Amino acid sequence: LEASMLSPLLLAAARSGRMRDVITSVPLTRGVVDRFVAGDDLDAALEAVRELRGGGLEVTLDHLGEDTREPAQARATRDAYLRLFDAFGEQGLAGGSDASVKLSALGQALPGDLALDHAREICSAAGRAGMTVTLDMEDHTTVDSTLEVLGKLRVDFPWVGVAVQAMLRRTDGDLRDLVGEGSRVRLVKGAYAEPASVAYQSRHEVDRAYVRALRRLMRGDGYPMVASHDPRIIEIALTLAAERSPSSYEFQMLYGIRAAEQERLAQGHRMRVYVPYGADWYGYFMRRLAERPANLAFFLRSFVSR
Ligand code: FAD
Repeated sequence: LEASMLSPLLLAAARSGRMRDVITSVPLTRGVVDRFVAGDDLDAALEAVRELRGGGLEVTLDHLGEDTREPAQARATRDAYLRLFDAFGEQGLAGGSDASVKLSALGQALPGDLALDHAREICSAAGRAGMTVTLDMEDHTTVDSTLEVLGKLRVDFPWVGVAVQAMLRRTDGDLRDLVGEGSRVRLVKGAYAEPASVAYQSRHEVDRAYVRALRRLMRGDGYPMVASHDPRIIEIALTLAAERSPSSYEFQMLYGIRAAEQERLAQGHRMRVYVPYGADWYGYFMRRLAERPANLAFFLRSFVSR
């Protein structure tokens, strides 16, 4: 099987409740999940953060969860972020740290302004703690709503950032409003299964779109956050970054992926690690498997090599 055939299957499974029940009930899954997720609770996340920061890495924390259908659960997610900011403040970890937030976990699909209201409370608490917030970007049906929320949040919290996905055809146009001064933009390839009508399908096209967007961000007045593990992308970003001051951009990678490269880049560049934690790891984990056949092989091997 080719990776290109497996990945749509895995991304479909990432959205399936039945698959979730199967995969999360297998005890062995846990050991593999630990490679990508810092732990089930805040204490585990704090431990990972202390270690990363000790090694000169910055962090952005993601309390795992998405596609919330219940207002109570959206509130619980907000509360988890508020606890995170308290803990970071108390433990002296806040300075320079960021939190990554999925609006779908805050009630984006529910009626009214629930997600916006929760996001406001999160930003307000982050600001008090001396931290920043970045909105993750989810599947293409949520992009308009996420950019709208971003615009509203930035009125009061100009430091709120957003992820944009190179694979989406619309991103070229969206960037027009995102290259201004103070605009924090995380550029990613995109992790969701999207139809050809809205997204580039081939790796080559996505990579080309990424580099185009990267050029615009690096030549703009904002603060580009280059989120990729791809050595070719990083090479190009390093060349473009040479014309900028070291404090005007950063690199980002995911927890557990290319740790040695993270440390290498941290010598001379700001390098931020995306640290997911929490019990609701299923969707995140499945997207990581879909990205890289080697991750899937690692997962499957852990079953047969018992
Ligand atoms: P890929 O095309 O996956 O990989 C390219 C190359 O990188 C590989 O061929 C290999 O050479 C190298 N590589 C990758 N993984 C490894 C590994 N484990 N070991 C060794 N080499 C490896 N997506 C969203 O849709 N929304 C978001 O908000 C979002 N936030 C993100 C935040 C961060 C900090 C990062 C890093 C990613 C985020 N993503 C997000 C995921 C992103 O969209 C991609 O799915 C993911 O980063 C994989 O793409 P890639 O650029 O790393 O390159």
